[in-house]
Amino acid sequence: MIKTKLLKMLICTLLGLLIFCGAVSCRKKADPSDTSGAPPASSDENPVNNPEDTSPGSLDSAQEEASSPETTEPPETSQFPVSPVSPEPDLVPYNGIVEHLFFHEAIAFPQLAFDGDSGQSGYDEYMVTVDEYKAMLESIYNKGYVLVNMNDVWSEYTTENNTQRMKKNTLMLPEGKKPLILSFDDISFYEYMKTDGFMDKLIIGDDGEIWASGRDPNGNTVVTQDMTVVTILDKFVKEHPDFSLNGVKGCIALTGYEGILGYRTQYDSKNDTPEARIMRKQEIARVRPIVRKLKETGWYFATHSYGHIDLNRGSLSRVQTDAERWLDEVGSLVGETSLFIYPFGSRLDGGDGSKTGPALQYYVELGFRVFASVGIEAYSKIKTDICAVVCDRMHADGGTLRRERNRYMIFYDAAEVFDPARPAVYGNSW
Ligand SMILES: [Zn+2]
Repeated sequence: MIKTKLLKMLICTLLGLLIFCGAVSCRKKADPSDTSGAPPASSDENPVNNPEDTSPGSLDSAQEEASSPETTEPPETSQFPVSPVSPEPDLVPYNGIVEHLFFHEAIAFPQLAFDGDSGQSGYDEYMVTVDEYKAMLESIYNKGYVLVNMNDVWSEYTTENNTQRMKKNTLMLPEGKKPLILSFDDISFYEYMKTDGFMDKLIIGDDGEIWASGRDPNGNTVVTQDMTVVTILDKFVKEHPDFSLNGVKGCIALTGYEGILGYRTQYDSKNDTPEARIMRKQEIARVRPIVRKLKETGWYFATHSYGHIDLNRGSLSRVQTDAERWLDEVGSLVGETSLFIYPFGSRLDGGDGSKTGPALQYYVELGFRVFASVGIEAYSKIKTDICAVVCDRMHADGGTLRRERNRYMIFYDAAEVFDPARPAVYGNSW
């Protein structure tokens, strides 16, 4: 009797070991393309504060329909818990269009954002609600996209003439998947958003993961992973690991004038008291582990200028002062980046990539390489006179939900994801 029991245990142990080893070898087999961790710098437009953005169109964009991703059942085991590891698919070279879609922070409580005050129309135009965002992710995933890192799409090389230029890389993707860059502008939880239905800040939860805290419409504190673009995507990728290449999530584009990620890390010359300095130090200490955790979990950063400035206005010295301040107050927290997301989608390349003015040259000298604006489709142009790429991003927001259903059908159907909590007054084209 005892002997039989022992024998059974032995067999189970061996079986468990075999399955475990099998899982490990599956993991080893796949050698996906690298993800460079270097955060980018970029600038996008700030919706409600500065509704002057938008950008001209772009050239080519394309996408082939891909089959929906396969999932593989984890192996059956008896009593030995084996974490479900799906075999990683073979990777194939991809040289086509890389789509790029951007969001602002999502509206957690539509009843506060759409309460008829002066901010309402801006929120409606430039933001999506958390319900819309979740439905959009689901649809984007089902259409066969896989998230890639913007840093992997282009790289710098030395020409025969010994100059530095950018080139497009061949991506290695799971067969049938289409690459997509996601970027997220102004993840600062600005003061003006505080009473309008957004979370207040990202935090590290007791479990060591990223959460968000804020207040619900009744004023009660809420700690959740279901109400910010960052944590919702984290959860989604956890549930659908094949939505991400090497765990990549997205690019977070930051200004600095009201700190970052909900922490008031900015230097305020008008309030340079000992108390203010201590508070700023505390905020910096609080945000560091959050930045670290974000980088560990597939997020990377871009500049969005320090003051969310329109780069086409004012002097070069204004641009320089702004950039220095961003590097000093934000770059010092998020690390180096070569990505620049234009505020207001206000580009420095003449709209067709042909111009290279002094401001663009200055940013390239600082180490920025990829300059992303806003446009009607995926577009990118490698500059031949300077080491830079200019590109466009499509914008997932209320404006395109209401008026650009067809163009965004490659990602989602506006009629299906549209949140009925939006005010009816603005109307839809479909
Ligand atoms: Zn912005």
